[in-house]
Amino acid sequence: MSDLGKLRRELEDLLGADGVISDPVQLRTYECDGLAGYRVTPSLVVLPTTSEQVAESVAAAHRAGVPFVARGAGTGLSGGALPVAEGIVIGLQRMRAILEIDPVNRRAVVEPGVTNLAISKAAAPYDLYYAPDPSSQQVCTIGGNVAENSGGAHCLKYGFTTNHVLAMEVVLPDGTRTWLGGPSPEVAGPDLRGVVIGSEGTVALVTKVVVRLLRKPESVRTLLADFPSIEQAGDTVTDVIGAGIVPAAMEIMDQLAIEASEAAVGAGYTLDTPAALVVELDGPNEECALLFDAVREICQRNGTTKIRVAADDAERLMIWTGRKAAFAAVGRISPDYFVQDGVVPRTRLAEALSRIGAMGRAAGIRVANVFHAGDGNLHPLVLYSEEAGEHGRAEKLSKEIAELCVELGGSLSGEHGIGTDKACSMPTMFTEDDLATMDKVRRAFDPENLCNPGKLLPTPRLCGERPGKYRPHPLEQAGVIDRL
Ligand SMILES: Cc1cc2nc3c(=O)[nH]c(=O)nc-3n(C[C@H](O)[C@H](O)[C@H](O)COP(=O)(O)OP(=O)(O)OC[C@H]3O[C@@H](n4cnc5c(N)ncnc54)[C@H](O)[C@@H]3O)c2cc1C
Repeated sequence: MSDLGKLRRELEDLLGADGVISDPVQLRTYECDGLAGYRVTPSLVVLPTTSEQVAESVAAAHRAGVPFVARGAGTGLSGGALPVAEGIVIGLQRMRAILEIDPVNRRAVVEPGVTNLAISKAAAPYDLYYAPDPSSQQVCTIGGNVAENSGGAHCLKYGFTTNHVLAMEVVLPDGTRTWLGGPSPEVAGPDLRGVVIGSEGTVALVTKVVVRLLRKPESVRTLLADFPSIEQAGDTVTDVIGAGIVPAAMEIMDQLAIEASEAAVGAGYTLDTPAALVVELDGPNEECALLFDAVREICQRNGTTKIRVAADDAERLMIWTGRKAAFAAVGRISPDYFVQDGVVPRTRLAEALSRIGAMGRAAGIRVANVFHAGDGNLHPLVLYSEEAGEHGRAEKLSKEIAELCVELGGSLSGEHGIGTDKACSMPTMFTEDDLATMDKVRRAFDPENLCNPGKLLPTPRLCGERPGKYRPHPLEQAGVIDRL
């Protein structure tokens, strides 16, 4: 029996038959994440329900020398959960218990498959919430958020996942279970919790998370302002921050992104405006009211053509639904798309956007923009049609946009991670010594290179022959063989 056959028997004994997927058709459910242009079918998928089962599954894979990839909800946009063909996927979605809400210490202890939004829902009766809010929050898991150090619209004021995770139980790549961090923010010794956050599943599997909860603000005020140009919306963002105001969120959408979002959810954005800016302020009532007036004035000074102020919670929610639906809604105006995730210094936003526009025109590819403007975190949506043979051109443009952000003094990723997508661009941002140091850290946890190999750091194999979009085999095209 092959190593994989032996491992499968061992895992079935451990998890029961319904905890192991080996049927070729069912395995295809796991062949990609949100970066659907890249697909690899894994050999096995296991669905543990406890930390012990995760540890035993990892230990068994480690003994067999078989690579393993953790998966939460598979909403990642950089191919972080892309399987390894000869490896297993460890799906953590069955581990979705909220183990404890501690309102006095403002903490929650949750399993890794709990969705981001479920934490806030569970904390709501205590007037508390979990601050990082990816637009995918209804489905993405806290385990995936930790692995990606995920952000969201409100991270401008409140910080990213790393600022809200106190401790976690992890399974190391040899199957050892341990805790990193502690119940209070200050822990002696090196911050190994920080090493795992943002490591994209390459150093450990997260099996429990202790998150910080925040008190809901006394007041929240939201406006949606239209602008005659994206540059004017961008200048407004710079002026708001320049005035010493730190809004909870500042988001920009361009006309294409608005068109897609309106087609999907009809939140009432103006269809023919070149740019819309959402600004949300929160805090004590008086402070919030004062600063809100100041923001309105700054919008007017920058030539806003229309300001809509959310009259109540329902309207506020509607404005956010429009913004948060934008990525997924792009499917309405384009059959395929890449979501890019670069960061530029805020002062270079206008320059970045106009260069991206020019690059898109030169490539004959439409680019929609929706972004966390306050952070300088761009999300150009590169729209293409696989059927029309545009995949290669769109992929090239997407890569060039990410590398442009580095050239402008920014970063390859603001929150979606490097994954498979941008591993080969890492040398544009880091020196060989930097990359070797990162590799040493990773190898300290995973000397055998079994834990999500080929992600985050460039490897000659990965950069030479990237796992690409599925292309039919000539025999399949000739009707001799079928794809299961
Ligand atoms: C419509 C849409 C909107 C989005 N908006 C945002 C946004 O606003 N902000 C943002 O930051 N992201 C956003 N994302 C990206 C994505 O939702 C996040 O990266 C999210 O954290 C992924 O969570 P997941 O559970 O789906 O993880 P997956 O996609 O399953 O996995 C992501 C990575 O985490 C690793 N991983 C998963 N679970 C674990 C675990 N328990 N232990 C160790 N490693 C693990 C995987 O190996 C992989 O490398 C969006 C995605 C979509 C589709």
